[in-house]
Amino acid sequence: MRVLVPLGKSKLITGIVLGAHDAPVDNRIRLRDIVSVLDEQPVVTSGQLRLWRWMADYYMCTLGEVMAAALPSGIIDDDYRARTVSYLRLADGVDLQQALDSLRRAPRQQQTLMHYLHLARFDQTGQAADIERRLLVEAAGNATLVRQLIERRLLIETEQPAPRIPPYMGTVEPAHPLTPDQQRAAEQINDAWRDHRVTLLHGVTSSGKTEVYIHLIQQQLQQGCSVLYLVPEIALTAQLTERLQRVFGDRLAVFHSRFSDDERVEIYRGLLDADRPRVIIGARSALFLPLHRLGLVIVDEEHETSYKQQSPAPRYHARSAAIMLAEQQDAHVLLGTATPSIESWYNATIGKYALVTMNTRYAGLSLPHIRIIDLERQYHRKEMYGHFSDPLVERIREVLADGKQVILFQNRRGYAPRMECTQCHRPPLCVNCDVPLTQHRAQGRLTCHYCGYSIPAPPRCPQCGGPLRAHGFGTERLEEEVATLFPAARVARMDLDTTRSKNAYRTLINDFAQHKTDILIGTQMVTKGLHFDHVSLVAVLQADNLLNQPDFRSYERAFQMLEQVSGRAGRKGQQGEVIIQTFDPQNDIFRWLQHHDYAAMAVAQREERRLFRYPPFYRLINLSLRHHNSGRLETGAECLHSLLVTAFGSRCSGVIIPAVPRVQNAYLLEIRLRIEATASYAKAKRLLGEQLARFASLPEGKGVTVLADIDPL
Ligand code: ADP
Ligand code: ZN
Repeated sequence: MRVLVPLGKSKLITGIVLGAHDAPVDNRIRLRDIVSVLDEQPVVTSGQLRLWRWMADYYMCTLGEVMAAALPSGIIDDDYRARTVSYLRLADGVDLQQALDSLRRAPRQQQTLMHYLHLARFDQTGQAADIERRLLVEAAGNATLVRQLIERRLLIETEQPAPRIPPYMGTVEPAHPLTPDQQRAAEQINDAWRDHRVTLLHGVTSSGKTEVYIHLIQQQLQQGCSVLYLVPEIALTAQLTERLQRVFGDRLAVFHSRFSDDERVEIYRGLLDADRPRVIIGARSALFLPLHRLGLVIVDEEHETSYKQQSPAPRYHARSAAIMLAEQQDAHVLLGTATPSIESWYNATIGKYALVTMNTRYAGLSLPHIRIIDLERQYHRKEMYGHFSDPLVERIREVLADGKQVILFQNRRGYAPRMECTQCHRPPLCVNCDVPLTQHRAQGRLTCHYCGYSIPAPPRCPQCGGPLRAHGFGTERLEEEVATLFPAARVARMDLDTTRSKNAYRTLINDFAQHKTDILIGTQMVTKGLHFDHVSLVAVLQADNLLNQPDFRSYERAFQMLEQVSGRAGRKGQQGEVIIQTFDPQNDIFRWLQHHDYAAMAVAQREERRLFRYPPFYRLINLSLRHHNSGRLETGAECLHSLLVTAFGSRCSGVIIPAVPRVQNAYLLEIRLRIEATASYAKAKRLLGEQLARFASLPEGKGVTVLADIDPL
């Protein structure tokens, strides 16, 4: 329960009672009295607290930081306000005939009163229902008239509480019957749970994993258990929510960060008071909801990196937290994906997780055909239109002429990732961060994708006055080229810039699904678990920037992204087609993709990781140090580094300069620890905690912020 407690001389703060004791834990601490207990029933369950404790311990952060991530702030600060709706009713004792007569000289008010009587279904017994004020204003076409009736005391206005999220009113239908392959998978999963906590469902795109989940959820509900269904980001929830609502009706609760805090409070409270099992679909933070009798956690698209919270603390991975939650609540976990993370795949191959596979797509759909186009050759032969190779342009023309749809994928937003001066070759940089500014042409601005800093696009190089040229291309530039190349096509663009408003994403998806648009241009947003019936071609404009990332996961990621985006191609009875343009056509990754050979990619990556001491053979801890003074930062980093080398020896890296060494006016340095998977992680973190505490107490540590990222992505 929440309590109000005094802090310092004059402050009162809200806290949650973790436990009770009757003697001071520490003699130096003076005990004070609780001012008041705010709740009659607990607002946090013991099950939630157990997860918080694990998270604070594992991710090396405070319980308070976990609490801030776990609870809608309206629960703690109590600044939640119930939404109310204004209702109107006829004042007691009003004689209707008299009232209408009295309004003879105000015919519009009289008319409005008539509207009210009509809306409220006034009957001969003199009974009239309360109606929403909004409805009468609409009918009267004028708010003043309504107010005048209230001022005349003919109508009484009352405020009544109303839920922000209206209950589902649509129809509920039975789930689709499973195909034999899906049925087999569901049975294998049930069997696997006898001796495994976690099962990995590795099913190719469109094999019907979601149908299998729906089936398993139904089983859980029948057994009186709740189900938590995690999706990597709200981007995915729109299509899925509709699909699940049709089966589970108002037993489904939706939870994600685009809800307002007040909306989240209502969902939270609704679950706290729930008296029957529920299905909760949500992004990673749904893990923290109060869940009664949890039976199953589904982690859909388990390979997605957005399951990891990067900032602020707790920097947790929802997949790991889901497994711990299931451990604590004696529930099961189902990880589903067409392209498992190397970690999960590895755990399945060594028997730590059970493995269930589905290799056939629903309705006899075959996997798409993948064609690789050599950009170097295309440019050399001058067979390019902007960033489109001749064969790609030709195929798009044919597909459009055939009345089908196209998805164009480019993993950069904006017009051009950098501008460069043709004389001094320097790009305009962010003033706060060491990164080139991205050109956003429609807005006529250059913007930093790290801190949001933005300036009107300069006409010439700010350093030497030379002419500027756009380098590289983002989705905005593609949109422009598409408009020139295919003027008749209806085009939409889906990226962070076009989906900022609450329903923009849903509109883009629905329009494309209903074939109101022909070409959808997008960033990785378009790669995610969406299904469209008329997409016969998917094109990747330049695969190279996916491969050339300075990150040991870049091949894994590139494969996942390309395989997932490929999965959007293909319709019933016709093989989909994927065209990938690249400067590196000989790269193994394209061979693996062409054969849809996940295992070959995974085995190669596993061996590389073993060789270069990466997960799953080693666990990583990243320490990020920041200070606004680069000299102080360097001194601090040297000092911490020597402490860590003494404690960890060769498990400690050198001091690393990150790819972006300055962000938001703070200089950054990194130190990385590698701990053998066979060693005690808890012990290593304890040791690290001691060294960090020591560093903080030294003069060199003063003012240096150190953030620990456990299992970084
Ligand atoms: P995945 O999650 O593996 O990508 P989905 O479960 O989303 O695949 O299925 C892909 C498409 O096929 C969806 O449109 C879904 O409605 C349809 N589908 C899959 N299985 C069935 C089934 N058993 N009955 C009817 N439709 C199905
Ligand atoms: Zn910046």
